[in-house]
Amino acid sequence: MTGSLSGSLARLGDVRGRRVLVRSDLNVPLDGSSISDDGRIRASVPTIRALSDAGARVVVTAHLGRPKGEPDPAYSLRPVAARLGELLGRPVAFATDTVGESATATVAGLQDGDVAVLENVRFNADETSKDEGSRGGFADQLAGLADAFVSDGFGVVHRRQASVYDVALRLPHAMGTLVAAEIDVLRRLTVDPARPYVVVLGGSKVSDKLGVIDNLLGKADKLLIGGGMVFTFLAAQGHQVGRSLLEEDQLDVCRAYLQRAQESGVEIILPTDVVVDTTFPSGDREPTPDVVAADAIPADALGLDIGPESGKAFAAALSDARTVFWNGPMGVFEVEAFAEGTRAVAQALTQVDGLTVVGGGDSAAAVRQLGFDEGAFGHISTGGGASLEYLEGKELPGIAVLER
Ligand code: ADP
Ligand code: MG
Repeated sequence: MTGSLSGSLARLGDVRGRRVLVRSDLNVPLDGSSISDDGRIRASVPTIRALSDAGARVVVTAHLGRPKGEPDPAYSLRPVAARLGELLGRPVAFATDTVGESATATVAGLQDGDVAVLENVRFNADETSKDEGSRGGFADQLAGLADAFVSDGFGVVHRRQASVYDVALRLPHAMGTLVAAEIDVLRRLTVDPARPYVVVLGGSKVSDKLGVIDNLLGKADKLLIGGGMVFTFLAAQGHQVGRSLLEEDQLDVCRAYLQRAQESGVEIILPTDVVVDTTFPSGDREPTPDVVAADAIPADALGLDIGPESGKAFAAALSDARTVFWNGPMGVFEVEAFAEGTRAVAQALTQVDGLTVVGGGDSAAAVRQLGFDEGAFGHISTGGGASLEYLEGKELPGIAVLER
């Protein structure tokens, strides 16, 4: 154990024997109590290992899922702590609460280099409270468990939450290596990107993601739109979208974007064909996919993927790109019948000669689930919301607070 750290962690100085609270993003998809994709846990390992190697007593805090501000065994971090232990190759202690008796005792029992995980931080309603006082009180308790703080949960740095923001006001702090790497890549996307710069957007959180288009219209050369968000654009062009995902209150916004894109010479490419079905995929029914023209979606149909012609067109639009940012699957890739569009885009990205960035929890999971080698992409981001807000030009509270 050397006690010394490099990169963004160096500013902590010698951490040997010091308790370091690390906010990680361990919010992995669960199937019952088994982890269906451990990408975020793996991404959290380097910072935790570096601190442990340097002799720190590492206390990891994180959230899992959306519990309602109280303990809920369905969202326990216990299986995640076990997986972290396997990946680290060293034992990981687990506290059954976040700032209570178990946490205090667990932290007190740590030796130099040991690692502990605290139970789901969102079992405490104050974690996400809008009230500074309640959040601050909780942050006091968290900070009381440690001598220093490391922010490494990139998926949450856009949130003003106790374990992300308030705790950094209370302890000497540093950026973890994951957050530092993420921010570095995002900077490369915003400061003088190599051109053509192509952005691919999809997924289901439509209104969350429309904001980024506003900023990208002044930056990207081409914008390819698929996934659930495409139907609001198709509807904005006057097409029927059947029972597809549609955000009626965003129609004017989409219309304005299409208009502005035309004026500013940014090419917005929408699918010309769509894979539809009459019901949303459910476990007890085989899908009955059908390909229709994007301007002829039947009234009873749901658009669940971009069609094969569109997959080819998207790949062609990506072929000469020098910078690509992709957020959001092109379809319901979890069901094989609706995975082809996402596969086509992922495949095209692997061929790009330049920087390719995949952002978003589901997009990253899709790349892995579809069997692509992660090494074929320039960077796979662990945070969809955070990377989008950065690209929107917003200040990320969890990053800004580290500069103080
Ligand atoms: P990310 O996590 O990458 O930011 P989102 O969370 O926005 O992406 O969206 C991912 C989800 O979008 C996936 O679960 C996928 O099934 C869903 N999705 C993609 N296309 C459609 C569609 N046409 N209709 C409904 N859901 C869709
Ligand atoms: Mg998602």
